[in-house]
Amino acid sequence: MFKPDKVQQQIVSGIREFVERKVIPVASLLEHEDEYPREIIEEMKEFGLFGCNVPEEYGGLGLSYTTFAMIVEELSRGWMSIVGPIGTHSVICDIINRFGTDEQKREFLPGLANGERRGGLALSEADAGTDVQRISTIATRKGDDYVINGSKMWITNGRYGNTFVLAAKTDAKADPPYKGISAFIIEKGGAGFKVGRDIDKLGYRGVETCELFFDNFPVPAKNLIGRSEGEGFKQIMTGLESERINVAARGIGLAQAAFEDAIHYSQLRYTFDKPICEHQTIQNMLAEMGTKIEAARLLVYSAADKKDRGERCDLEVGMAKLFATETAQEVALQALRIHGGAGYSKDHRVERYYRDAPLLVIGGGTNELQRLIIARGLIAKHRVK
Ligand SMILES: Cc1cc2nc3c(=O)[nH]c(=O)nc-3n(C[C@H](O)[C@H](O)[C@H](O)COP(=O)(O)OP(=O)(O)OC[C@H]3O[C@@H](n4cnc5c(N)ncnc54)[C@H](O)[C@@H]3O)c2cc1C
Repeated sequence: MFKPDKVQQQIVSGIREFVERKVIPVASLLEHEDEYPREIIEEMKEFGLFGCNVPEEYGGLGLSYTTFAMIVEELSRGWMSIVGPIGTHSVICDIINRFGTDEQKREFLPGLANGERRGGLALSEADAGTDVQRISTIATRKGDDYVINGSKMWITNGRYGNTFVLAAKTDAKADPPYKGISAFIIEKGGAGFKVGRDIDKLGYRGVETCELFFDNFPVPAKNLIGRSEGEGFKQIMTGLESERINVAARGIGLAQAAFEDAIHYSQLRYTFDKPICEHQTIQNMLAEMGTKIEAARLLVYSAADKKDRGERCDLEVGMAKLFATETAQEVALQALRIHGGAGYSKDHRVERYYRDAPLLVIGGGTNELQRLIIARGLIAKHRVK
């Protein structure tokens, strides 16, 4: 049985208290209005949550992947959207911390840790999501700068963020194409960087997901991560491993919230002279929901622990992401069914969980991609000599 240590228990109980008091009472209202949860995010900033995975020497909390996953689970239990501002933010902290030069770490990590800098990952494009090698944004060296041309799609924190890790081709003819991808730290403010529309989404509302446009946008060459061209694909893919743990943890939190609402409702709603939780069909649903959530939690914390130990864990992280997010989607639907007609109304939270869950099977690399990664890993592990 996975058991959090004392410090982790304290952190989780502090976050839980904050979520119960400040998030749950307003989440559905803000979500329906598609309103940015400014006050909640400010409070998260005060807690230091923007610096969860930034080392203490740069002003962060220096928490493990496992502890961060616990925080994400608790926040997501209240409202998945509030993880958005610290989610890809933490991915870019991870990338800069692992691959940045000392100068880049000193320049960017303190501001990211205290939340003055709000980060995002500018990777996907209208014509390139799963197939990252197809990106067509170009970075051309001009003197002490690179000049960026192209556009990005689906960028979380695009409007309220100010610092991004951007993937661009520095060699469009490289073979294989991933060898031509480089990663840059870019900042808003200069001419040639425009934020387009906020995409109107099914769920994950309240936080913005935007298009970004670059027209001869200059980036100082010193912002090329690690100061070497052609390393961007590897750097970003490594960062996405931490994103998968955080997406999986969002899945557990969302599923837990849906389960709690369902088991509560099932004891209050009567049909045929008894609460519906006494009908065996409902009991079967509750049993499956509870079992899958517990299994998902164990998988996620086991994968996070492996990453904390510095071991190779792409297979385990892929399994955790796949299972936890498919569980979230299934449990959200079951919770809605247990609520009957009430579940279909906006008076109950389950309709929000049901709309939020599908993002989890898409974000951080789709679950179809996870299955490919898992299968490749398993075949390699069990190769016939
Ligand atoms: C709300 C939201 C927020 C996001 N935030 C960000 C962000 O902050 N930064 C960012 O860079 N991106 C972000 N994304 C983009 C996200 O990472 C991509 O949507 C995702 O990687 C899938 O890419 P795609 O949408 O282009 O789908 P496609 O790649 O076009 O895939 C379409 C379908 O084909 C399947 N498929 C593709 N290739 C294969 C294959 N080889 N085998 C089997 N099936 C395959 C996919 O699984 C999917 O079902 C966000 C997306 C959403 C919806």
